[in-house]
Amino acid sequence: MRPIMRYLFVFTAIAAAIISSLAMAAGPMTAAEDGSFSIVVIPDTQHYQHSKAEPETQGKPELINPVFDAHTRWIVENLDRQRIVFVSHSGDIVDENIPQQWDVARRCMDRLHGRVPYGISVGNHDMKQAGDSSLFQQYFSQSRFENFAWYGGSFKGKEANRSRSRNNANSFQLFSAEGIDFVILHLECNAPDDVLAWADSVLQSHANRRAIVTTHRYLGPRERPITKRDYYDAPKGCMVWKVCHGENGNSSRQMWEKCFRKHKNLFMIFCGDQSRTQAMRLTEYGTHGNPVHAVLSDYGKGRQRGLRIYNFRPRENLILVKTYNPILDKLCEATDIVTDRNQHQFSLFYDMSPEDANGSDNNHSKVPAVQTQISLKGAPVP
Ligand SMILES: [Zn+2]
Repeated sequence: MRPIMRYLFVFTAIAAAIISSLAMAAGPMTAAEDGSFSIVVIPDTQHYQHSKAEPETQGKPELINPVFDAHTRWIVENLDRQRIVFVSHSGDIVDENIPQQWDVARRCMDRLHGRVPYGISVGNHDMKQAGDSSLFQQYFSQSRFENFAWYGGSFKGKEANRSRSRNNANSFQLFSAEGIDFVILHLECNAPDDVLAWADSVLQSHANRRAIVTTHRYLGPRERPITKRDYYDAPKGCMVWKVCHGENGNSSRQMWEKCFRKHKNLFMIFCGDQSRTQAMRLTEYGTHGNPVHAVLSDYGKGRQRGLRIYNFRPRENLILVKTYNPILDKLCEATDIVTDRNQHQFSLFYDMSPEDANGSDNNHSKVPAVQTQISLKGAPVP
């Protein structure tokens, strides 16, 4: 090769490498900024394909869950780029609560195992209606997690009731990022009183940490829907009805009244379950005046299939929230059910300054203890 041709060749190769790395860096999910960190929420993953109760036999299509698979695959591939420090699954991991689906679910979640701290809230599809979560406990038992330094522990309950609420069905995790300490609880759907008493004790004994709760059902139609359309059209908010644990179960509103509102370090509640509400948020104020952002995501219906990335920016006291579909490599702009982009891409104000580490007794003391209106104040993402 003549020298001039050699230079031209090298130049072309370098230019091609730069262009291809730029192309990789492009796409809707820009890298998280230095000084920020992200929590990813995986909403309901109950959409299995070839979902049959019988064991797989030759010739039958294999049971798969492409959305769940894509979600955890994207998360591990983007741990550094999105500065992901925690992953929370908001429940309805499975649809039918059968071993075959749990096998697939565990394979998907195992991708995170040992790579990033994570927790799971048990949904109504992950247990029997009366509260038996034996299969979840078998597939995601406490013993799988207790050697991780970030694992806090789980609700013990009574040995006689071991199918219910125990063995990681209600758990908490501890993590820190950018000098901020967090405690996050994963509470089962319609958690009964003894679980809420345990949650109280966890939140109290970690009062110096900023607290998050993930619980499967929290926002949706306020009253129990009577018609199918009610799931879409009835007034929405913190639910006063329940589906699990019979008379021992607590509705979302009861969980707030009996437990959540008392804790001034609590600032966020993640939930799923309501695919016909899909995306919603509600800010209420606890007894100490601390704002608590409840955020629902469940993109189970339609093509959106998004997960949520909560990017915390302590310098700006902002949480930038993105809904992203890794299969389509697209941010969710609108859905058939929720057409407002600001419900899918938004930001939340949250004071992360060190002096506000313990919630705010002073800043919001003039705000009424409970604000029931939906907060749509989050600024849209630029
Ligand atoms: Zn559910």
